[in-house]
Amino acid sequence: MKKILLSLLLLTTIKTFSQKNYQQIHADAILIDSHNDILNECFEKGYSFDQNLQGKTHSDLNRMLQGGIDIQVFSIWCNGKKEHPFAYANKQIDSLYAWIARNTDKMMLVTTPKQLQQAVKQHKLGAMIGVEGGHMIENNIAYVDSLYNRGTRYMTLTWNNSTPWSTSAMEETKDSLLHQPKGLSAYGKQIVQRMNALGMMVDLSHVGEQTFWDAIHTSTKPVLVSHSCVYNLCPVFRNLKDDQIKAVAKSGGVIQLNFYSGFIDSNYEKRMNAIILSHKAEADSLKLAGKSEAAVAKFIQNKYKTELEAIKAPLSKLLDHLDYIVKLVGVDYVGLGSDFDGIEAPPAELTDVTKYPLVTKGLLERGYSKKEIEKILGGNFIRVFEANSR
Ligand SMILES: [Zn+2]
Repeated sequence: MKKILLSLLLLTTIKTFSQKNYQQIHADAILIDSHNDILNECFEKGYSFDQNLQGKTHSDLNRMLQGGIDIQVFSIWCNGKKEHPFAYANKQIDSLYAWIARNTDKMMLVTTPKQLQQAVKQHKLGAMIGVEGGHMIENNIAYVDSLYNRGTRYMTLTWNNSTPWSTSAMEETKDSLLHQPKGLSAYGKQIVQRMNALGMMVDLSHVGEQTFWDAIHTSTKPVLVSHSCVYNLCPVFRNLKDDQIKAVAKSGGVIQLNFYSGFIDSNYEKRMNAIILSHKAEADSLKLAGKSEAAVAKFIQNKYKTELEAIKAPLSKLLDHLDYIVKLVGVDYVGLGSDFDGIEAPPAELTDVTKYPLVTKGLLERGYSKKEIEKILGGNFIRVFEANSR
């Protein structure tokens, strides 16, 4: 009995120690999130990033600092149907510059590894720029230089839409590419080479498998996958298969995990479909009454919020993806690219960016050392950023 009591006491002590410890480790580590869509969210809805947006968004300036984020890559994006995406990208960059100018005490632009370290030292949120989707350069390689000169340090070769020079995961898997072969065209390869020469990371989230392999064979620098997960655990069109994960590692690159429930939990879609089906009659009658598809979806989403909350994936699912990559290729090739404010359903526990320390707690509970956690939270991304900046 005494022995049991002693073990119990020891267990409690260990637990209390690790409870405190995770917050310290989280605070000490450099936390880099390689993908967040708050910029577009603010742009479209007229929100200010430096205001309290709790209840409206996953992120705002103070909540990012509270969550211990040191470096945030802000995604520059519009969908493939928008006219003049390059001008739109520039307006979004203007907007980020304005946020920084208004909050010089709390944030700064980061375009070099040296500035990244300065931001960390000064306890400021380091703001990096990532352009999501090759369509943003409107088929003009000169715009790559232009975006680089304004601070862009990665470009995702495609979003869900293909460009004339690169095909997306969505379109490659749907076989909807009637007018072009899969992969990178000769011009696409030139764009990758130009990015390499400038020091703009080649981001392979969203790209089709053929584009992925063409880019791997073209890029002379380690590649980035800014917000994707593991296909073997959750077989959705834009997650990475094992041979792709191995190829990213071989290039010296990094896979930054997306937090979306639908990308980390293979049963999420089934649960979602069940909810949609249970409210189909109501949705149909609204459509009959003349409401648009989008308006109906929004109405159902708001009315049945609690049901939708209940089907979110647990944080453990996200950590399973992390473990999987570590087991397959090692701890040097994985990181975090939440996609907060670009996804409607992050893991249940991670309701917004302030909950980031729970990721560190989860890693510690799974047996990762402080050194390994530091690599996952930011060290691996820094290595890729440095290798691309040379
Ligand atoms: Zn995305």
